[in-house]
Amino acid sequence: MAELRIHLLGPPRVEIDGEPVHIGRRKALGLLAYVALAQAPCRREALAALLWPESDESSARADLRRTPTQLRSVLGAQHWAIDRETVALAPEAEVWVDAAAFRDLVRQWREHSHADAEACPTCLEALEEAADLRGAGCSHGQRRLLVWEARCATHLPWVRRTSIV
Ligand SMILES: [Zn+2]
Repeated sequence: MAELRIHLLGPPRVEIDGEPVHIGRRKALGLLAYVALAQAPCRREALAALLWPESDESSARADLRRTPTQLRSVLGAQHWAIDRETVALAPEAEVWVDAAAFRDLVRQWREHSHADAEACPTCLEALEEAADLRGAGCSHGQRRLLVWEARCATHLPWVRRTSIV
């Protein structure tokens, strides 16, 4: 299956097998980002409330019917598992999301739970990889900053900050 790569930490971009894919609408990109980071089926009502908070329920649901259909035609049906209640990426889909990779690397560091990450080669490597994903370089101050960001950011407020508002 074609690999779907979603870059969200800088300017958002989506690639299939290395080829850029244009996703026109910000809300469609927001939905893709949210569903990809959730790594589980997302209920349609929850997505409607997140993405179309200003709409009444019936127009939000109409938008929510259209948007996954549009994403499915742009990205390929094989990447999606969509039913009447939920929207998800297919469990067998090959999906890489930089923000998820970042989160995993920081989690790896946190699970070591020692004060001085700089002294531990495993932690240092994880943090440097995470810093590369952020395009942040690897200075001491920047590493501290990205660790702080990762602590504060669950995926929901993060998607709100970067792709929707
Ligand atoms: Zn460590």
